Amino acid sequence: MNIPRVKLAHLPTKIEELPRLTAALGGPQIFCKRDDQTGLGFGGNKTRKLEFLLAEALNWGVKTLITTGAIQSNHCRQTAALAARMGLDCIVVLSGEEPLKKSGNLYLDSLFGAEIIWTTSDKREEVLLETFNIAKESGRNPYLIPYGASNALGMQGYVEAIKEITEQNIIADWIVVASSSGGTQAGMVLGSLLHGFQGKVLGISVDQPANDLQKIVLDLVHDGAEKLGLDLEIPPELVLVNDDYLGGGYAVMGAPEIEAIRLFSRMEGLLLDPVYTGRAAAGLIGLIRHGFFSKQERVLFWHTGGTPVLFAEPYLSMLQ
Ligand SMILES: *Cc1c(COP(=O)(O)O)cnc(C)c1O
Repeated sequence: MNIPRVKLAHLPTKIEELPRLTAALGGPQIFCKRDDQTGLGFGGNKTRKLEFLLAEALNWGVKTLITTGAIQSNHCRQTAALAARMGLDCIVVLSGEEPLKKSGNLYLDSLFGAEIIWTTSDKREEVLLETFNIAKESGRNPYLIPYGASNALGMQGYVEAIKEITEQNIIADWIVVASSSGGTQAGMVLGSLLHGFQGKVLGISVDQPANDLQKIVLDLVHDGAEKLGLDLEIPPELVLVNDDYLGGGYAVMGAPEIEAIRLFSRMEGLLLDPVYTGRAAAGLIGLIRHGFFSKQERVLFWHTGGTPVLFAEPYLSMLQ
């Protein structure tokens, strides 16, 4: 079954070899999938997911995109850019405290013309729904994009991304990727089954215990398969999650993330972000040091974006 999609991402994204990083770590051969370069206001993994959600929204004649995230949400920034590009209104419900001066993604949200509603992380879903209802009642024809764009539609972006890498003829024993709302990893797991990708997908959890995230990802794999009209039995052991690198919790950049960001910058001229890819790379580095991969293996580090957060505090000061 073909699910409608609006093609606007810059695809296929490049796969680059990282020889200096590989040598510095003395471990497996490392490659990088550059989904930080998908387009839409600095790019990132949400662009692939939004292609599918946008198709449904346009089909419904929607006028306003509404979504939610943390104060430095990459997902909200990419949604805001998408709305601007399509001539739609955008409302983002952000958790955090409104700062005196906007920076990073928050600054970009405003630049793209998004309306911002402030809340706290525990009230996020409630305020999101309230915002949606108000917009609906005032005739703004809203479309609700879930947190992280992770649902049966959004995850299809990563089913397609796996098809893309099989067409790029990459032989990877592992994909290592930051995993949070689970849609990216779920798409990769389903995509591997559907498109015969033989490598394993290892999600480095960014903010929750492995058991919780595993369940979220598995549910999304099932939902995504159903959307495709498939009745698949998904073995839970296909969903590999590592939660050893949660550090101080969500969006708290610690020594491992700082080391990873510096190492990628200095070895490869490649920028990571403080929240997601910095943590996933810290996981990759930690696992290599523990001998998790053999030297002969090939690891595809999947860059999911997030780099505008390098310009937001407290990260900016901590990295200087
Ligand atoms: C949202 C995001 C992720 C996590 O993707 P999920 O599909 O939510 O698991 C990883 N990296 C970056 C940069 C992100 O913005």
